[in-house]
Amino acid sequence: MKRLTLQQEIEIAEGNIKGLLHFQAFHEDNEEVQMALLEWAKELKRLKGLAEVKTHKNGFEYTEKVTVRGRDRYLLNGEIVALQCIACKDAFELGGFSKNKKGVAGKYSQCKNCDRKQTSQWTKNNPERKQAQNKRNSKRWYNDNKAHKLATHHNWRAEQLSLKATLTSEMIEELSWSRQGRCFLTGRADVELDIDHALPLSRGGGSTLGNLILIDARLNQMKGQQTLIEFLERPEVQAIVDPAHVEETLRMLANYNSMRVQAYELHVEQVAEKADRERKKERQKLKKQLKVIK
Ligand SMILES: [Zn+2]
Repeated sequence: MKRLTLQQEIEIAEGNIKGLLHFQAFHEDNEEVQMALLEWAKELKRLKGLAEVKTHKNGFEYTEKVTVRGRDRYLLNGEIVALQCIACKDAFELGGFSKNKKGVAGKYSQCKNCDRKQTSQWTKNNPERKQAQNKRNSKRWYNDNKAHKLATHHNWRAEQLSLKATLTSEMIEELSWSRQGRCFLTGRADVELDIDHALPLSRGGGSTLGNLILIDARLNQMKGQQTLIEFLERPEVQAIVDPAHVEETLRMLANYNSMRVQAYELHVEQVAEKADRERKKERQKLKKQLKVIK
């Protein structure tokens, strides 16, 4: 059964008194009713006394203190405003406790002061573990920072060529976690990985999530200015890569570009060809200009 708040108890007492007064109007000399009235009047006075706003020595105001399973809760007009800490037994406003969805009033049962004491005690007792934790944190910071640097670098390179540049450090992180540190083409984990533009910047590809893969640094060197599609057509490459990983990679890239795999492959080919044509034109123009100068 749900416990009634003080406010609800007061309302019930007031309702009962009202009812009894109404009854008394018809049965003036009913002794039982008069006794009941007296009792309820006393109860109402007691409840109202309880409902008076009190100030706790720790500064918060409350109207009601309830003890549930040995632990005090302080209520102000029916709402929990303060709790007793199970460790130091002192009472504090809700702000003095860390969040915990499952706890009473969404708070931990131990106050923040006690949390801190416990943490520093743990650090004292486990200096080597604390050191390891610091190391992990700094390593994580380094990785985050690395992701940011990589995103900025690849965006900058694409911008220089007026190509799409929409990378964020979160995308780089997503990329690095997506295959648990394995090469996107061979599935090998024991190799140094490079970020590769599936469609190279020199052939019209941008620095976007839908154009990046993580591959074995040696494969990246072999790939050079080839598109991923061209690269995968080479027999010596086909002998090294793992078909399942290649398929997953192509599906991933197509997906990021909101295309089906076949459409994506065609798209890469077309963009690369267009870039090639433009580069050729530019070279011819340059040649002509040079002839004029001569
Ligand atoms: Zn405490």
